[in-house]
Amino acid sequence: MCAPKVLLDVAGLQAGYASRQMPFVRAVDNISFRLYPQEIVGLAGESGCGKSSLLKTLYGLVEHPLRVEAGSIVFCGNGHQHSIIQDLRATQKLRWRYLSYIPQASMSVLNPVVRIEKQFQELMEIHEPGLSATGSQDKVTEYLDQLGLSSTVLRSFPHQLSGGMRQRVVIAMATLFSPALVLADEPTTGLDVVVQRGILQMVRDMCEQYGTTFMIVSHDVGIHYQITDRLMIMYGGYLVKIGTTRELFEKPCHPYTQLLIASLPRLGDTGKRSGIGGSPPDLSRPPQGCRFHPRCPQIMEVCRSEIPELLEITPGHYVGCHLSI
Ligand code: SF4
Repeated sequence: MCAPKVLLDVAGLQAGYASRQMPFVRAVDNISFRLYPQEIVGLAGESGCGKSSLLKTLYGLVEHPLRVEAGSIVFCGNGHQHSIIQDLRATQKLRWRYLSYIPQASMSVLNPVVRIEKQFQELMEIHEPGLSATGSQDKVTEYLDQLGLSSTVLRSFPHQLSGGMRQRVVIAMATLFSPALVLADEPTTGLDVVVQRGILQMVRDMCEQYGTTFMIVSHDVGIHYQITDRLMIMYGGYLVKIGTTRELFEKPCHPYTQLLIASLPRLGDTGKRSGIGGSPPDLSRPPQGCRFHPRCPQIMEVCRSEIPELLEITPGHYVGCHLSI
């Protein structure tokens, strides 16, 4: 059940990949958190730590081999309380209008052989069936204009647009009906810094103007620093830290978060930044205890055998590390 002013309530979520060819891979392990209206929340961590699997599960894209084992995801962004994974059929009806998802590659959203205009029209026909063709066209053109996108993009095929422009078009589609929540997986990866900045500004504007909440997955902590209000850090399928972005950068506390932040390039710094030694765990055979212990410079004996609980150490600031107890 959603508490007042909660948009998404995730509790005890466990999900992973099951197939006959390989051992079960639990990519999302005992994850709990809440999202609130009109905020931008980041999800950071190295590749292979479960970020994209978590995002797909939140959107109800639970198709073989991905499987949910336990937990709940309650969405309250459509004026009701809806269980995303218990009622996948009803979840489909929420998509685009109340809940949108931007996958890693924008081309996977866009049909390469259909002009952008037609793709917007199809969305309008499904979600605003009462509008005339001219009314739909006007709404789309007006919306693109508000986002600073020229309506000339409508006449293009996806491959005729630059990567940055395609990504903007996908974000425009995902937010056309002012959904309560947009889940975006690496929305700026592969784009140059100037284009990245434009896209991040677009996200910030939409959050402020339309009240949309964004959950943004990126392995690049610098992106989170620029855009997010709150940040969650994921490692080995677990959330190991949740807090406001400012607090998290000022007091990283958790050794993994400290190393992630230390690996960021600094302005005017010409030296080589230290990376995080080793690699993330194999989620089909994760280490016992804290999953970061084989790489942790502050390891203690207890870390080898006991999984640290994610504890709220100050209001809204959660840390999963034995050092914080
Ligand atoms: Fe390091 Fe132990 Fe904290 Fe894990 S629990 S991050 S191994 S100090």
